[in-house]
Amino acid sequence: MAGERPMKICPKCALFVMNPTCAFCKVPMVITDITAKESLHMPSKQREELINHYIETLIKDTYDPKIREEREEWERNQGSPWASYQGAKAKCPTCGSTNVRSISGAERGASILGLGIFSNKINKSFKCNSCGYTW
Ligand SMILES: [Zn+2]
Ligand SMILES: [Zn+2]
Repeated sequence: MAGERPMKICPKCALFVMNPTCAFCKVPMVITDITAKESLHMPSKQREELINHYIETLIKDTYDPKIREEREEWERNQGSPWASYQGAKAKCPTCGSTNVRSISGAERGASILGLGIFSNKINKSFKCNSCGYTW
């Protein structure tokens, strides 16, 4: 079951997800001792403390706060680590914009991991960045 898989932390930017590779640094992630399910039920403050704990214990030698800042900036620009890639060829049925992104698959996973994308989008698969329409 997906929820029982361990969370992983990027040795460079401290990205905390289930993926085996950091989407930003393209390096293999370090496995932590917490499962995705445990992480899901954790208040964000506690999660932040846990990430700091892993930075101290698991990735101290490789971690770079500057890379973390860059990655966080990159995430803000993208909306999510997986944004837009899959939706690149899709077109908005309402306004015709190609500035759309996929909200299926990986991003649903992202919402499970608390990256801030929530589940009322769960039955839709694309969102238009121009007019906000989802379909
Ligand atoms: Zn990283
Ligand atoms: Zn549109």
